[in-house]
Amino acid sequence: MLIHGRILTVDPSDSIVEALAVRDGKIIARGLDRDILRLAGPATRRIDLHGRTATPGLIDSHAHIADGGVEDLYHVQLSDVSTVAEAVARVRAGIAKLKPGEWLQGNGWDEGKLAERRYLLASDVDAVSPDNPVWLMHTSGHYGVANSVALRLAKIDAGTANPTAGTIDRDAHGAPTGVLKESAKNAVVDLIPPPTAEQQRAGILKIIDDLHREGMTAVKDPAISQPVWDAYVELLNEGKLTEHVCVLWYAGSTLDSARETLKAISAQPKPPRSLGNGRLLSCGAKIFMDGSGGARTAWVYQDWNKNSVEKDAGNTGYPSTDPEVYRQMVRLFHQAGVHVGTHAIGDRAIDWVVDTYAQLLAEMPTKGLRHSIIHANIPSDHAIRTIAILQAKYDAAYPEVQAPFTWWIGDTYAANFGPERSQRLVPLYTFLKNGIQWGGGSDYSVTPLAARYGLWASVERETLKGTYGAHPFGTAEAVDIHTALRSYTIWAAHQLFLEKQIGSLEVGKDADIAVWDRNMFSIPSQQLKDLKCELTLVHGEVVYDATTPRTALRLGRRHRPQVLL
Ligand SMILES: [Zn+2]
Repeated sequence: MLIHGRILTVDPSDSIVEALAVRDGKIIARGLDRDILRLAGPATRRIDLHGRTATPGLIDSHAHIADGGVEDLYHVQLSDVSTVAEAVARVRAGIAKLKPGEWLQGNGWDEGKLAERRYLLASDVDAVSPDNPVWLMHTSGHYGVANSVALRLAKIDAGTANPTAGTIDRDAHGAPTGVLKESAKNAVVDLIPPPTAEQQRAGILKIIDDLHREGMTAVKDPAISQPVWDAYVELLNEGKLTEHVCVLWYAGSTLDSARETLKAISAQPKPPRSLGNGRLLSCGAKIFMDGSGGARTAWVYQDWNKNSVEKDAGNTGYPSTDPEVYRQMVRLFHQAGVHVGTHAIGDRAIDWVVDTYAQLLAEMPTKGLRHSIIHANIPSDHAIRTIAILQAKYDAAYPEVQAPFTWWIGDTYAANFGPERSQRLVPLYTFLKNGIQWGGGSDYSVTPLAARYGLWASVERETLKGTYGAHPFGTAEAVDIHTALRSYTIWAAHQLFLEKQIGSLEVGKDADIAVWDRNMFSIPSQQLKDLKCELTLVHGEVVYDATTPRTALRLGRRHRPQVLL
């Protein structure tokens, strides 16, 4: 039992209790200390919270944890570099550990965080990588830079035309700069050997550890493939998947690839059925409607901006899947009763996605498939009306939103969306006002993993560097911490098809619990970002304790008694 706490339950009336009792991983009672303590037997383990605050384990409705784990362990990290020279130095150090010909991969750079405020280019890294192909992915995952060795291997030169739904950036003479956007990057990325099965497992285990340290107990991992699924199943069978994970299978951008994906999905139980009692769910399919707000490739009605007030004349981005093909792909999944999550950033892309959902739901009304609009960065008024209707009528059309975009890539976003559009970016308050429910998320590794950043960003809407002022997105679309917490708990659980099992602390639900050093409902909201998780339980088992060295906890786990009565 957990006693002497302030337990924020996130139940329908947002009640706060002092204590709760757990048996076999489930909450069996909650309420006042004296009532719970009365249930104790001789073998009951008591965790005294000493007045600390507990919440449901936080849930991320969109985080690329399997890919992100591999990046964290095996790629050069560029998310904290602040100059081009620093990035080049990290590449040089990485190359020093490789044999000639081996690929060097980097991740996480963002021109909005570089003093030079420009892309990394092949010419920046060529001198330190004469014998190795290099691919440095932008933090958005939608573009990156290849060095000249990689461009040669991919057969990209001045004579190469842009592929469909892709852009090869060029200098004044028409020569590729190394920056490849959207589908143009595939020519390089497809040459890179995939991670080994062992690396894949190690990556997932690393992230599970990180999640526990941040009080996070469930994640929707979007856009996976068979090897990643196999790794999850293996870890589940070994008892090492101490998280709830729901996955979306990447469906490609053709009807053929969608059919292939449907085959893989059909081989697994459909949610809410799961493997391992809610530990692993094959949730559905992922499709991309457009590109990114960072690369100015997302599909919008008005020309993109640059440097905030300038216009990127003639550029309204583009769909990354042919819109008619997209509609057929969604129809295929919808008719098969499969949940679809669609990446849509731009207003034009979001309109197309919600209109597709509306059309297919009218054709074949199915409740509860919870089709989602991933990111939903700048929905139009039409989209907001449609989303509200589809949620009420069909339990469908849920935004899976990343408030931390306004922070971590907020300076790049403010530059590209421009002053007017920025005001309606990530419009959480408008969602709330219209009765729209959304799932919170990080889009890790696009932004850092910790959900506390999302809680903070939902409330504060501040950019990292304040290049265009601290609040280029205004504060009118901010929400309070009660709402923000809901979006990272019970509302996110709904998008994982697990709202009956997790997402709030109620009798009968899993004891997935995070204990914090501060009460998030009463601290100044600026401090939300600095919350520290002190204890994490998954299904009643302590998976993280800030007071216990990590190795001791891991070694001792088998011998520790479960928290039970
Ligand atoms: Zn994503």
